[in-house]
Amino acid sequence: MGVEPLARRALIWHAGRGIPAPTGFRLMAPGRITGVLTTPLLSPAGRLRLLWERFVPPSRPAAADDESLEHFAVRRLGREAFERLVQPLASGIWTADPAQLSMAAACPDFLAMEREAGSLWAGERGRLRSQAGASTAAGARYGQFATLASGMETLPRRLADELRQCGVRFVTGTATSLATSADGRWRLMGEGIDEATALADEVVIATPAAAAARLIASVDAGLSAELAGIDYAGSCIVSLGFARDRVAHPLDAAGMVIPRRTGRGILAVSFSSSKFPGRAPPGCVLLRVFLGGALDPGVLHLSDDAIVARARFEVEHLLGARGDPKLTRVERWDHAMPQYHVGHVARVARIDAAVARHPGLALAGAAYTGVGIPQVIASGQRAATRCLQRTC
Ligand SMILES: Cc1cc2nc3c(=O)[nH]c(=O)nc-3n(C[C@H](O)[C@H](O)[C@H](O)COP(=O)(O)OP(=O)(O)OC[C@H]3O[C@@H](n4cnc5c(N)ncnc54)[C@H](O)[C@@H]3O)c2cc1C
Repeated sequence: MGVEPLARRALIWHAGRGIPAPTGFRLMAPGRITGVLTTPLLSPAGRLRLLWERFVPPSRPAAADDESLEHFAVRRLGREAFERLVQPLASGIWTADPAQLSMAAACPDFLAMEREAGSLWAGERGRLRSQAGASTAAGARYGQFATLASGMETLPRRLADELRQCGVRFVTGTATSLATSADGRWRLMGEGIDEATALADEVVIATPAAAAARLIASVDAGLSAELAGIDYAGSCIVSLGFARDRVAHPLDAAGMVIPRRTGRGILAVSFSSSKFPGRAPPGCVLLRVFLGGALDPGVLHLSDDAIVARARFEVEHLLGARGDPKLTRVERWDHAMPQYHVGHVARVARIDAAVARHPGLALAGAAYTGVGIPQVIASGQRAATRCLQRTC
């Protein structure tokens, strides 16, 4: 199911309130002059600088074929638009340090706009023209967002059920290492993996990169070192369920992102029950508070009580959520988000070249070519195709 039409906008915390991202502004591409001219999120000078973007000449760094998101956004849009718009919107997606996040890996479409259309403004206008009816909602392309009525875990459960019906047998265990056997097959070792299931013609390593590095270490030390070089950040989500009348804010958006410059203790808060139907009982609302990320790693060392206290303090300040929540849940996502640092695309090319030297080996997962679930699924499909091409 998709995002509720009335919630298809993002708020950005500024000057003591949540303000909609400028109409037509997509992460870092301004699509409408009026949206920029009328936004209270920027000073008059900041608005003019953002409108000037179309006259900023394309300038790719000469030495390397990549640059950080912060460098790119400040260069094209000005520091104010970066700090007040791009940084909070981007941190809600990648939980990354924008001074390290690779444009080539994370935002290749915006780099292409600069290269091909000359500016983000021209590129976004062209995109809107070519996709008549494309969303001009503020902050993100909400038409692309969807979830499953019974939660995202339905997806792997259903997949597993379907595969079982096709005769696929599942052996679950923790893999500790891989080796090649004399007949060129792969031998998997680890807890819960017995001799009978340990040999395979094809192996897809779909773990986070650090685990993949450990698994492959004795087969290819160079590949292992490249995999180990992919950093991860962690985050926490605190889900808070309140009676509707306990929250003063109208919650008329998908959520609110918080610029780092404001010094507040959270990254964002998602208005889950506004975004998707059925996420809270009638008369109640569900807020999901995001904390941590690459720039606030200490959150994961706090106790659950301290994390909940911080989340409650912030939703009281930001949204007027008062009193005890009816539901409180803490989820820790330690080392869960791969960090695509500048140079990531080149690293992945080296990883692909190394993998290609090992027949029957493939990699899949969020570490390589996209952290979103659609990109992760696509990487799994590529890995499966690679295996099938060899065996069929
Ligand atoms: C807080 C948070 C919110 C997110 N929100 C969104 C969103 O709204 N939309 C979106 O598209 N994406 C979102 N993402 C990103 C997306 O969920 C992930 O990028 C994606 O799920 C990663 O899938 P994966 O299969 O690569 O890795 P994982 O889901 O981490 O799976 C790796 C698996 O490998 C297993 N494993 C590890 N080591 C071993 C071993 N030695 N042996 C055997 N198994 C092992 C682990 O147990 C795990 O099951 C979010 C991510 C986070 C952390």
